[in-house]
Amino acid sequence: MKPLVAAFAAALCLLTVALPAQQSAALPYTVVTRDAKRPLAARTINGQEMFALDDLARLFNLTVREDAAAASLNISAGGQSVLLSTQQPLASVGGRMTSLPAAPAREGRSWYVPVDFVSRVLAAISPTKIDLRKPSRLLLVGDIRMPRVAVRVEGLGAQSRVTLDVAPPTGHAVSQEPGRVVVRFEADALDAPDLRANTTTDLVTGVHLGDTAQSVAIDVTPRFGSFRSTDQPGPAGATRIVIDVLPQTEAAPQTPQPQVPARPQTPESPPLLDLPPAGGLRTIVIDPGHGGDDTGAKGTQGTLEKTVTLAVARRLKAAIEARLGTRVLLTHDGDQTVGLDQRAAVANNNKADLFISLHASASLRPAVAGAQVFYLGLEGYGEAAQRAAQAPRDALPVLGGGTRDIEIIPWEMAQARYIDQSAGFARAVEAALRDRVPMSPRALQQAPLRVLVGVNMPAVLVEIGFLTNAPEEQQLLADDRQSALAQALIDGIMRYRAGSGGTR
Ligand SMILES: [Zn+2]
Repeated sequence: MKPLVAAFAAALCLLTVALPAQQSAALPYTVVTRDAKRPLAARTINGQEMFALDDLARLFNLTVREDAAAASLNISAGGQSVLLSTQQPLASVGGRMTSLPAAPAREGRSWYVPVDFVSRVLAAISPTKIDLRKPSRLLLVGDIRMPRVAVRVEGLGAQSRVTLDVAPPTGHAVSQEPGRVVVRFEADALDAPDLRANTTTDLVTGVHLGDTAQSVAIDVTPRFGSFRSTDQPGPAGATRIVIDVLPQTEAAPQTPQPQVPARPQTPESPPLLDLPPAGGLRTIVIDPGHGGDDTGAKGTQGTLEKTVTLAVARRLKAAIEARLGTRVLLTHDGDQTVGLDQRAAVANNNKADLFISLHASASLRPAVAGAQVFYLGLEGYGEAAQRAAQAPRDALPVLGGGTRDIEIIPWEMAQARYIDQSAGFARAVEAALRDRVPMSPRALQQAPLRVLVGVNMPAVLVEIGFLTNAPEEQQLLADDRQSALAQALIDGIMRYRAGSGGTR
């Protein structure tokens, strides 16, 4: 036996001496699961990138049994098994042959398999979802939402454009933060290997991952004024997010005015800014209830209504801009005291199409909870308001050939003309909220609300929940509830526009 063992050992030595010429370490892959990220070593053997079968066995709970006589490896996972030829680049999965770029390679006692073995064979038998992404060297295990994001920055005359192709399409919100514009995705992480490979412009100095693994930050220069974001269909089922970064205008207006950015002159840029936004909506005004000295309701744990309404309003603004491409103005974007008529004036002066006032409720009974939607009731506003509501639309002159009639209706009664539309809008918003957040037993109500009375367009007031209900107070502060509210309000807007035919 001894000479035989020696001969075998010699053969092994020859093998191990011969191998280094043909194999080398490759950059590791990153295995991403719900709970963790860890490296998975890869090596190049005979020009093929391979994983150690032992590593895969540990990762996917595989049982590996070699059948030397049949020149095969019997690999099973859960109830399923695979026969992998040790001589040929072939595997048999449930009786079906699958080809591989190379046969397994043996090094010492270990078998190596081409990385494609994971996507072509293991993915077919694994009870968990497996997604191998070779270009970004990722191996996603389980239901991981990790969209691929590719970024391009270009200068277009005075403005700059940042284009993000996102696959698969993933919910996102674009918002402005000091010194940057941030795109937050509803994802576990982003697959964006070439995020930094970017040109810079005099408005955009860089693009990189944001504070969280789910966001992309676009750094802007002090010349930055505002941005506009549109979603379009992208290549290969991707969503293309086009963010136009606009410079400051010469004279900053006192009150919010329509942003009319210079139309890009370059022929390759599509005239995005001139397209009517989704559903014919051009401007939506969101009114974060209370502010400054007027703190509004106070929660059992001290949460102030003004804080929650502003947080939800900012989130809703970003979400609407990103999803609908509609201009959104807030009646105030800081902790300021703003009068009720002033809030209506922001909407009227900007010829908004919709007005949404956001509030949170308080009750003496701590058990009371849930969201509510209000539209204006005319009781308490007198006969003139009732008459204004009943006057036929076309009987009223329209100034300047427009479709607005605020000029001839006393300020106090502006909303009277829109009660029916506001009721429709309120129903749509209530139904959309019901799909996503807990509702009050009295979810849809009519009330003589001062903030709505002067608004010259369909208008609702949404009480997003009760701060006096301790669990709801906590929920209203949480990211997921705030984004559910923003989503629901967008759905409500879309339902209303769909139901009202998209015309005024
Ligand atoms: Zn309030």
